[in-house]
Amino acid sequence: MQYAVPPPQLPTLSVAGRDERFPVNRIFCVGRNYAAHAREMGKDPDRDPPFFFMKPANAAVDATQKATVPYPPKTANYHHEIELVVAIGKGGRDIPVDGALEHVYGYAVGLDMTRRDLQLEARDKGRPWEFGKSFALSAPVGTVHRAQDIGHPSEAAISLTVNGQPRQASDIAKLIWSVSECIAHLSEYETLEPGDLIMTGTPEGVNAVVTGDEMRGAIHGLGEIVVTVTA
Ligand code: MN
Repeated sequence: MQYAVPPPQLPTLSVAGRDERFPVNRIFCVGRNYAAHAREMGKDPDRDPPFFFMKPANAAVDATQKATVPYPPKTANYHHEIELVVAIGKGGRDIPVDGALEHVYGYAVGLDMTRRDLQLEARDKGRPWEFGKSFALSAPVGTVHRAQDIGHPSEAAISLTVNGQPRQASDIAKLIWSVSECIAHLSEYETLEPGDLIMTGTPEGVNAVVTGDEMRGAIHGLGEIVVTVTA
């Protein structure tokens, strides 16, 4: 095979206890999936169906070891969102809630890094969120823990500190839409494929970071990630 231009590199994540790596296909993100975060964003938490936005595969940053992300251009309000990440192992469409977890390869800790000023400007103008959410290196993700090794966590403390100071603290039990429900709903609209990631939404406490800040995110049972913002 000869390519007309250099082909894009396939982003990959490490897998706990394994040599093989998890290839990142698409990154689907759930909006407003914790009630307290919905309220801090000025919206009523509700049981409207979950909604999704996407990040490109090259948003993924392997944060197994200490990682860095560059402060992105065109923002003065660069926010952290700590999230439970679901790694899809088996594709499918119209997946029933009951069988949804069979499609999960594993789970990881991740950050949905956000240019909040650009996102809110787009939201208020009825424009797409792309410039706020969908940019390179905006999704640091830690080691993927296989479901066959750790099961399917439904409650676990989720937290983020910046320079050692608490910013976000909640429990994944507070997800408005469960992992199973997110998979089932998304698969009605898009055939899921192995390698897809689903970022399940962030709890309250989102806030800005600046160059030099060290973010430490953790979910009980999935370890932690340490990500520093560089110039
Ligand atoms: Mn998010």
